[in-house]
Amino acid sequence: MLTAPQFSPAALQTVRDRIDRAARQVGREPTEICLLAVGKQQPASMLRAAYDAGQRDFGENFAQEGAAKADELADLADLRWHFIGHLQANKTREVAERFAWVHTVDRERIASRLSAQRPHHAPPLQVLLQVRLADEPAKGGIAPDAVASLATVVATLPRLRLRGLMCIPPPAPTLEAQRAPFRELRVLLERLNANGHQLDTLSMGMSDDLEAAVMEGATIVRVGTAIFGARPRD
Ligand SMILES: *Cc1c(COP(=O)(O)O)cnc(C)c1O
Repeated sequence: MLTAPQFSPAALQTVRDRIDRAARQVGREPTEICLLAVGKQQPASMLRAAYDAGQRDFGENFAQEGAAKADELADLADLRWHFIGHLQANKTREVAERFAWVHTVDRERIASRLSAQRPHHAPPLQVLLQVRLADEPAKGGIAPDAVASLATVVATLPRLRLRGLMCIPPPAPTLEAQRAPFRELRVLLERLNANGHQLDTLSMGMSDDLEAAVMEGATIVRVGTAIFGARPRD
């Protein structure tokens, strides 16, 4: 018989402990790192249980799925929604209206639409540029050598606030191999800041490589399975 998955506060605590340990190993303050709970395919009841355990930032990959959960959890006023999926032009309105953060901006057209569609009563949409590093299998993402010009454009859009960069590297077998692309992303961010930007956010690291990401300066780690267990349809 199929039983509904249960939220495990212990699993959430284990992830927090992993972040803390990795941060201390490199002399960082664990409080500098935001844990984003990735709830794709998980029911709103799971997210509510995580909220009750103290979780506040939630990531969704599909605009409609995220908006439906936001409706179900509308009573949780201080919950923050982050859009982390591949963004198509016909889905920007939902994202601009319903999310606080977008991690996956990778072209000017998407950025302009988000800015134009961001409601005026809402604070600016917090934006990260998704960078496709070498060998990255993910859909979307901008090449590293095109990041600077996209950043310049996005920084001028009135309803967006450019905060930093995001990446999804392929799985790697060792801690050292995992760290290499995260280091690359950090160096890219440092270069943008040397050229006048004031970016403070690196969204990198998932269930299997969050330690490597924290060691290289992640300020947001995006974790699904290690918090909620396997996804129903994976
Ligand atoms: C699904 C997903 C995650 C979480 O992955 P896990 O391996 O389950 O932790 C993080 N980031 C993005 C962009 C995702 O799509």
